[in-house]
Amino acid sequence: MSTTPTVYVTREIPGSGVERLREQYEVVVWDGTLPPEKTHIESKLRELDAEGLVCMVSDEIDAEVLDASPDLAVVSAFSVGYDHIDVEAAAERDIAVGHTPGVLTETTADLAWTLLMAAARRTVEAYEYVAADEWEAWDPTLLMGADVHDATLGIVGLGSIGFATARRAAGFGMDVLYTGRNPKPEREDELAEIGVDATYVELDALLADSDFVSLHVPLLDETEGLIGEAELRQMSDDAVLVNTARGEIVDTDALDTALEEGWIGRAGLDVTDPEPLPADHDLMRHAPEKLVVTPHIGSSSIDTRSRVAEMAAANVEAGIDGEELPNSALRDAGLE
Ligand code: NAP
Repeated sequence: MSTTPTVYVTREIPGSGVERLREQYEVVVWDGTLPPEKTHIESKLRELDAEGLVCMVSDEIDAEVLDASPDLAVVSAFSVGYDHIDVEAAAERDIAVGHTPGVLTETTADLAWTLLMAAARRTVEAYEYVAADEWEAWDPTLLMGADVHDATLGIVGLGSIGFATARRAAGFGMDVLYTGRNPKPEREDELAEIGVDATYVELDALLADSDFVSLHVPLLDETEGLIGEAELRQMSDDAVLVNTARGEIVDTDALDTALEEGWIGRAGLDVTDPEPLPADHDLMRHAPEKLVVTPHIGSSSIDTRSRVAEMAAANVEAGIDGEELPNSALRDAGLE
């Protein structure tokens, strides 16, 4: 009987992470084009007596999954966010949980700006206009959008990605308002050094005074529905809301009404609730005039996803060896 530990990976992942795991373990990779059902992950872990699990943001890893293999030593998220994993249940069972902070930061901030610019300058609409062969002449009123330069950028959560998004405001001469649990004077100083004036304000003031509002808080009980009707009504009627954090942070029905009734100007979403967002969802009737949507591709650059795979593999190795994980979600959640 083989004593080589077994690792289950719930999707084909890019880069050399899986090869690296294969050099040491029996590795089984789900080869479907859609995520496996939760029951499938459970039965696979059970069947393989898996010691390691590499999971995606689309997988719900709850106590039932954690209990499927008695040998499970480590769950390694292919993401920085770990709201899809019941970390308390993992801690109770002494199962390590890894995630991949830092590596996704700059790439996700790039996408926040992509959505911000696309919504402001109506680039998706513009593309569709050209593709539909409607471009007959230069038109002085054609597809007028909002200026990004000299505007005010509101950052909700000046953590890693929020800060990287704020830094990019330097090139556009923007002022930054930010909110979160606490003021961050050191980050304000760093931003001041590159010419960005950043001020800590309460969420209400940020919403009222920002031309662009970009969300960067994790999904927690306290942040679920953080942006609902009251908050959207506080924004100016030409403001742009960008969400690259998690869909559930915004109340989808309220956003739908906000776009319908013009409480805000436009939205750019990389994450949605529900996710995936079906093309016939009510929200999609606003696209592309008022809504730009991307399918949760915040960290999806070739280099970054390859690095994520390496980090996920390193967390598996440490977990199976019973060592401290290089990037432990339990540590970051204050559970170890
Ligand atoms: P991070 O460095 O931990 O920053 C999170 C920020 O949110 C921190 O400033 C934190 O404040 C603040 N915060 C936490 N709880 C809060 C609360 N209850 N109320 C207000 N602010 C709160 O995380 P990150 O690396 O920037 O990532 C942020 C999120 O982006 C992730 O959790 C993930 O969900 C999402 N994400 C999405 C993609 C994508 O593909 N679209 C990619 C990567 C990440 P403190 O500093 O005071 O703790």
